Amino acid sequence: MSKIPMPHPIAELDGDEMTRVIWSWVKDELILPFVELNTEYYDLGLPNREATKDGVTHEAAAAAKRLGVAVKCATITPNAARVEEYNLSQMWKSPNATIRGAMDGTIFRTPIITKLITPAIPAWTAPITVARHAYGDIYNAVEKITDEGVMEVAYHNTVASVKSFAEACFRYADGEKLPLKFSAKDTILKKYDGKFLEIFAETHKAFPNVDYSYTLIDDAVARVIRSSGGFIWAMKNYDGDVMSDMVSTVFGSLAMMTSVLVSPTGEYEYEAAHGTVTRHYYRYRDGETPGTNPVATIYAWSGALKKRGELDGNSELVNFAEKLESTVIAVIENGTVTGDLAALAKVNVRCVNTKEFIAAVKALL
Ligand code: NAP
Ligand code: MG
Repeated sequence: MSKIPMPHPIAELDGDEMTRVIWSWVKDELILPFVELNTEYYDLGLPNREATKDGVTHEAAAAAKRLGVAVKCATITPNAARVEEYNLSQMWKSPNATIRGAMDGTIFRTPIITKLITPAIPAWTAPITVARHAYGDIYNAVEKITDEGVMEVAYHNTVASVKSFAEACFRYADGEKLPLKFSAKDTILKKYDGKFLEIFAETHKAFPNVDYSYTLIDDAVARVIRSSGGFIWAMKNYDGDVMSDMVSTVFGSLAMMTSVLVSPTGEYEYEAAHGTVTRHYYRYRDGETPGTNPVATIYAWSGALKKRGELDGNSELVNFAEKLESTVIAVIENGTVTGDLAALAKVNVRCVNTKEFIAAVKALL
């Protein structure tokens, strides 16, 4: 079989710990045998971030913007313990924060749904994608409790940031051909939330094909719970923080959640929503066979390859990416799963380790 050509590269951002190990397995077994893989490789593993004084993260962010599509492995965000563990000269900033800042991007999180796992809200048969505005509001607030016992809080946002958010939401909804719902509380914050509404309505004019609606946040919650899913739900920073945790919990597993960072000018970075799965990595280092779920990492790759194919009019690559995803679903629905999903399944399944799962996908592919 000849491999699928890929004339234009994507940025490949490698990472840390268990996901770094899984990264190479997925690439070697599921991508390289089928695709003439074309990437610009950036090693965002913590040792290389230290060696380059974090320069590699900035180069990677620039490459993601230049090439238009990136795929990223989970990375360690250093804290005090990591500074010691990796003998760091500085507590380097979160790579995700650096890349998000450089791309001025919005994160869209979507669960991967299979018939094997029934969501806690069984009516949710199609994914709900949450888009959270990741700037301002209470996250940069100042607050005070006065001697008289009055509590005060002040927070801000910028029109430019809300515009970028709205642009990214409409662009993503347009690409995915999904309805876009935005919710806020403009009946109370008439100016602040009102400005969000105004900007969303204005941005809608540039994307007339998008089925867009606005709903008050409390009404939206009631409607979402009764819905069958299948839409993008855009929210302000705090609402998105709270609701994204609710949505991911209802769908069951962080290991089955994908994440894509979209810039207002149409650059895309795909990744798994989970972290580097440190606990599994330490056990792997001690010689244990890992049972970490590689599905979200596989979907990061398929998402990036599909987008590359779409942008280049490369239908073979798009088909391959879609086939890879449907094969993963088929393997799971046929009852071959890693331990995290075995624990959620209501029927008998064959519980396998990471390599066996990848091998099952490859065999069916
Ligand atoms: P985590 O890596 O998401 O893992 C938390 C727990 O969730 C794991 O211990 C495991 O539970 C379960 N889990 C997550 N992904 C799984 C998978 N693919 N298969 C099976 N189980 C999975 O979060 P963390 O332990 O809080 O963070 C670890 C490191 O990741 C930190 O250094 C953090 O900075 C980094 N991080 C990076 C990103 C990113 O790059 N986007 C995001 C979040 C965190 P059990 O142990 O119970 O099996
Ligand atoms: Mg949260």
